[in-house]
Amino acid sequence: MQTIVHARYSLNNGAFAQDLSVCVDGEYIVDAGAYSDLTSRYPEAERVGGDDYILVPAFTNAHDHGRAVGTLALGIPDDFLELWLSDLARMPGIPPYLASLHSGLQLLQSGVTAVAHSHNPVSWTDLASEIPQAIRGYADAGVRVAMHPPIVDQNLLVYAERERFLDFLPAYIRARLPESDMIAPDADEYFAILDDLYDNFHDSARHRAHIQVSPAGGQWCSDPLIIRACQWAQERGTRVQMHMLETRYQSIYARKTWGKNFIGRLDDIGALGDWLTLAHMVWVEDDEIELLAERGAGVAHNISSNLRLRSGFAPIAEMVAAGVPVGIGLDGHTLDDDQDFLREMRLVWTIANRSGMASPDLSADALWNMGGAVAAAISFGADAPLGRLEAGGLADLVLLDWASAKGKWSPADYPPAALLPEFLLRRIKRDHVRHVMRGGEWLICDGEHVNVDIEDVEREIWERLEFEGEEAPSQLGSYLRRFYRHWDDAESPSE
Ligand SMILES: [Zn+2]
Repeated sequence: MQTIVHARYSLNNGAFAQDLSVCVDGEYIVDAGAYSDLTSRYPEAERVGGDDYILVPAFTNAHDHGRAVGTLALGIPDDFLELWLSDLARMPGIPPYLASLHSGLQLLQSGVTAVAHSHNPVSWTDLASEIPQAIRGYADAGVRVAMHPPIVDQNLLVYAERERFLDFLPAYIRARLPESDMIAPDADEYFAILDDLYDNFHDSARHRAHIQVSPAGGQWCSDPLIIRACQWAQERGTRVQMHMLETRYQSIYARKTWGKNFIGRLDDIGALGDWLTLAHMVWVEDDEIELLAERGAGVAHNISSNLRLRSGFAPIAEMVAAGVPVGIGLDGHTLDDDQDFLREMRLVWTIANRSGMASPDLSADALWNMGGAVAAAISFGADAPLGRLEAGGLADLVLLDWASAKGKWSPADYPPAALLPEFLLRRIKRDHVRHVMRGGEWLICDGEHVNVDIEDVEREIWERLEFEGEEAPSQLGSYLRRFYRHWDDAESPSE
């Protein structure tokens, strides 16, 4: 059975497309063109859509943790990243299946059909069983997942100068810290788990799930581990995703450790390529941007999270202007704590266009691609046919409600078509997402999931949450703040 999906307006490759409809057969778009052409070529096809809608390719969330419930709701206040992380382990664990099922449902309601999921284990020793559960959760929601099981092998307590940090601490806090801040699994175990996951779940044909490798962050992983991860991915034609240069202190760590910047160091060890995506990249320098563009490495930008964790402002317009593929990720930490991808696109656009006439521009068209085709390419690879309204593409589509997105005030034939990408980007939010198709299947109809009741999932999560009493805060925060302030003082005061 074929379906023609049509709308008053369409956006493709970020731009307004005049009279562009698609014909879907099975999981794919088999034809794209004028509505009258498609109805004459496929007279038997079912017709969905109409003048009440805007048709756009579905979005990809290029970096997230699939937490389901925000960290604040679970008792962890926002703070500087380093301080926030020191308390994150206090959070009650949500069973991975429920967490990713709920996260997937939230994303779908926002028009997102694919996510890069950086897994935060409930228990690191259960990684091998948690990942399949998380994959199943996304599968039941109907969201494609690029799965990143994490590994770390150094610097968990502080990025460097551990002994000096320990000297800062009162004896009673020091006594509570584990001997070493390392956690299982070790590299051999990790890659054995990864091999297994890859054999069982990696789907490079239909792109339902990808297994990728994730040395969790530059400062938390040794060179040998990063090199091994990059080789593992290249041998299998899959990707690497790492957190990188999220805070100023990570950038200072690189200079302290190697006397050069982080991206230069990655290049030295052969860890930069078009198979790599780096999340955050707030503190990237000009010559690092050039290197990223030269090597084709992608960046997942997480503006809300960077604001909430006081990390700073990534030079997104500069990166896009240099040719770095930049996609948008929510990091499970949006400004309104609601995983609204459309509002996040608006926030990225607004903040990326800075003051000063010499500042580069970031267009609305570029933004639509950063949420769509580019986010898909840096998450699932440039070969995955996602994020475009064209024949051969996977049929992941969103119909937005035109009347409510437009509002009541503007005349019938306004805005001018050329301004449509900008107009919509300024106005849309999750409430305007009416219908969402993933792989030829309508999963969201009239804003609701066709198979799963999100409120049932929420109830189950709250019932299963184990608040093991009020676990005491680590009390490391104020000491970490003092410790890293010394790093600030040693650096030049300019930002
Ligand atoms: Zn993250």
